[in-house]
Amino acid sequence: MREIFRDLMGNEAIKHNLGAAIADGTSSHAYIIEGPRGSGKRTVATLAAAALSCENRQNAGSPLPCGHCPVCKRILHGQSADVITVSPHGKATIGVDEIREIKSGLYVVPNDSDMRVYIIEQADKMTVQAQNSFLISLEDPPSFVTFFLLTEDASALLETVRSRSTVLRTELFGPDELEEYLGTVPGADGIRKRDPEKFYNALRGARGSIGAAKEILFPSESGRKAKAAEEKAMEFAEYLFTAKTGDAISWVLREIPAKRGLAVAKELILYVAEATRDLTLLMKSSNAPAFLFTDRERSDRIISSVPPSYGAYVFENVAKAMDRLESNVSPRICYFDLVFSCEKNRAG
Ligand SMILES: [Zn+2]
Repeated sequence: MREIFRDLMGNEAIKHNLGAAIADGTSSHAYIIEGPRGSGKRTVATLAAAALSCENRQNAGSPLPCGHCPVCKRILHGQSADVITVSPHGKATIGVDEIREIKSGLYVVPNDSDMRVYIIEQADKMTVQAQNSFLISLEDPPSFVTFFLLTEDASALLETVRSRSTVLRTELFGPDELEEYLGTVPGADGIRKRDPEKFYNALRGARGSIGAAKEILFPSESGRKAKAAEEKAMEFAEYLFTAKTGDAISWVLREIPAKRGLAVAKELILYVAEATRDLTLLMKSSNAPAFLFTDRERSDRIISSVPPSYGAYVFENVAKAMDRLESNVSPRICYFDLVFSCEKNRAG
């Protein structure tokens, strides 16, 4: 049997229904994906987008999506111009303007493949007017368009929107599924044998989330240190992006020691570069894979007020600071320079 959505853990019903429909070419043009936070709504929509567009989709011997063709790769890495994500970006609602923008580009022929997918995140944040103006597009889009409306609660959408869409539900892992999955994680099975209480506490505490379960089982010292550095870097990146110069300067005085601060400065700048990279990519596509800013509400809040080209400036300045730290400039001066160059770019 053909392997469908093989990278999707759990959510068997979706694999059967949505996956099979895409494989048969009988999928609908509008889906509502409803499910709790952390249950894989975005993953399902992205895999479906890849499956719909995959160059090997007609080949019954290939997994779907194949994951290797150029189209799959671009979509799975969040770099396809044919997968368009609309999200509230930290605002309270998705308004008529956002829907108008979708409608204005609806009939434009796709770029990379012969399909285009729109993913509307937190679709229940569409205003009533936005939903109403969306109805005709939802009901009768061009044949190469599929919509995925993601929401934690489909009943918050207008009945007219629901009736024009196929509703799918994503589920958190059940305890059995999570246990089965953890059995395949190196080290976790050993803990189950040595210290069953710890293992099963982690299972319960994780509430269906793989990430949470791993975090409880393996809170290593180096992991904790890295976490602290990540958090510091994300804080600093936030100050740079939101032009909070005063806060950024206080951060430097607090985190970079005046004497012998070079090692700390060099270590932190790597994390700052990652955080900056995340925000810069997320400004381009909310599908972009993020290393540090995995909490999209937080990143949306930061980037919502940032001018479009500013991310690249910050990134450039961070890269310069990395170079300068190699040439033994005073680490604090180096960071101050970074803060002021960003401020100058933002003002100019
Ligand atoms: Zn493919």
